Amino acid sequence: MRISLHGGHSGQYCDHARDTLAEIVEAYHRAGFQCVGLTEHMPPPDDSGLYPDEVALGRSAGWMEARFALYVAEARQLAREYKDRMRILVGMEGEWYPGCEKWVAELRKYHSLDYVVGSVHHVQGVCFDFSGESYAKAAALCGGRVQLYAAYFDAQFAMLQATRPEVVGHFDLIRLHDPNYLQTLATPEVWERVLRNLEWIRGAGAILDINARALLKGQTEPYVCAPILDAAARMGIAVAYGDDAHGVADVGFGLELVEELLALRGMKVPDVLSAQWLQHRER
Ligand SMILES: [Zn+2]
Ligand SMILES: [Zn+2]
Repeated sequence: MRISLHGGHSGQYCDHARDTLAEIVEAYHRAGFQCVGLTEHMPPPDDSGLYPDEVALGRSAGWMEARFALYVAEARQLAREYKDRMRILVGMEGEWYPGCEKWVAELRKYHSLDYVVGSVHHVQGVCFDFSGESYAKAAALCGGRVQLYAAYFDAQFAMLQATRPEVVGHFDLIRLHDPNYLQTLATPEVWERVLRNLEWIRGAGAILDINARALLKGQTEPYVCAPILDAAARMGIAVAYGDDAHGVADVGFGLELVEELLALRGMKVPDVLSAQWLQHRER
C-alpha cells in the first residue's frame, strides 16, 4: 500500500514550500497513493517561534494561525473531494519549544486534527536545520557537536512525553549538517538517548517516520539512518514512509529505496486506515 504520513507542505500555507495544496494532492493521486497524510507546519505560539524566512516576510504568529486554519479547511475539502479515490488525513507537523504542549493540544482539539507528527527543529531556541550557519550556532551554544545531539534528543524526549505525537518526524534530523554522523551517534551519551527515545515510541505505539527528504538534500540514506532503523526493527517499532513533500516535485521521492530498506529488515507499515489507529488521537 502506498502511503505517506508526513508531507503535503504547500506554497499556499508554508513560506518555504512550492505549489498549491490541490496540485500536490493531485500529484499524490497520480502517483498511486492510497493514503496521504497532510501535515502542514504548526503555527508558532508567539512571534519568537517564527522561522527566519517568516520574520523576513513580516509574518506574525497571529497571521500564521489564521493561515493554518485556511489550510485545515482546504485539506478537509480535498479529503471530501477525493474520498472515493484516496484517503486524505489532515494533520500537523508540530514544533517543540519548551512549554508549548498546551498550544499543541489546543490546535489538535480546535481543528480536530487526525494526528500530529512530532518534530524538533529547534535546540537552544535556534532553528538548527534552517542553514549550515544556524546549525553551527546551535552547536556552539550547546558546547560542541556531541552536546548538540544530546540536547536535541533530550528536547525530543520532552516533546514526546508532553505532546504524545502519533508519528515521530525525521527522528535523527540533527545529523543534517554532520558528515560524521555515524560516529557522533555512536558516542555513548548520544546512543543511550537514541535508545531511550525509541523505547518511548515503542511503548506509546507511535510510528517512526522514514523520511525521504534527507535523500532530496543529497544524503545517501533517509531519516532514520541504518543503525537507528536496525534498533527500531529489533524493538518492533512501526514505521511509515514520509516524503516530507514541499512541492509537487517531491511527491513520492525515494519511496522505492525506503520500501527496500524496510523489506530488508522485515519492518511493517501499520494499517493507519483502521478505526483503531485513528482512535489513537483520543489519547
Ligand atoms: Zn517545512
Ligand atoms: Zn520537519
